[in-house]
Amino acid sequence: MSRKFAEVSVLGVDFIQASAAEFLEQIHHDSCEHQNKMIVTANPEIVLTARADAKYAKIVAQADYTTADGIGIIKGSQILGHSLPERITGYDTMLALLSWAEKKHKKVFLLGAKPEVIKTAVSKVQEQYPKLEICGFQDGYYTDEEQVAQQIKAAQPDFVFAALGFPKQEYFIAAHRQVAAAIWMGVGGSFDVLAGVAKRAPHRWQKYNLEWLYRLLKEPTRIGRMLALPKYLGLVFWEKFTHR
Ligand code: UDP
Repeated sequence: MSRKFAEVSVLGVDFIQASAAEFLEQIHHDSCEHQNKMIVTANPEIVLTARADAKYAKIVAQADYTTADGIGIIKGSQILGHSLPERITGYDTMLALLSWAEKKHKKVFLLGAKPEVIKTAVSKVQEQYPKLEICGFQDGYYTDEEQVAQQIKAAQPDFVFAALGFPKQEYFIAAHRQVAAAIWMGVGGSFDVLAGVAKRAPHRWQKYNLEWLYRLLKEPTRIGRMLALPKYLGLVFWEKFTHR
């Protein structure tokens, strides 16, 4: 079974119209077939950056699957009249895939975050998924990108989780994904969460779609980045009233 999901455009970025379960099932299938796939989990900031930067837009467009990471994308899709079913976040998807990889004896490579953070993240992953094979890891503050690509090539992982933040992780994946027939996914600040350096919002906050507010309260310096949200919503309404 090889499925191509229907896609919904939100301000020029095409999102897959899939539930998290359908998406995971597809990735399991792709991985079993040793396919090379690139996943972008995009939030409103990524959409705005792609809109403003043609080079980045081209990179995001190369993704095989772009998922709606953030309530802003779901709301945007609803306002534009083509609803996406639910959020598919980088963090939750990564955990689900780590668990699956452990059961299926698949190898994973973890790339990104600060040197001490990636080390802690690796031990946490080993603790939580004791049978999982981590075939390599590397912090995200390297100086020789080519060498990192060679390291991944030598390890031949089935999954590469790149936690370099955007846009760096998407550029890295697009440039080097041919070195291994793997599922390549950008996971932003996920290793900080795994390592316990950053906290995910409690379930109730997530349930009420207030994860962004929780993050802002915890890291008030993100206010500059968060101003992307009202700008994004303004553009969504503009699109709705001018193009539909
Ligand atoms: N990072 C990295 N290399 C860099 C810049 C950032 O590995 O050159 C890491 C950083 O340590 C952090 C993650 O990328 O773990 C970015 O986290 P952020 O919360 O900003 O992610 P996003 O909001 O993009 O998901």
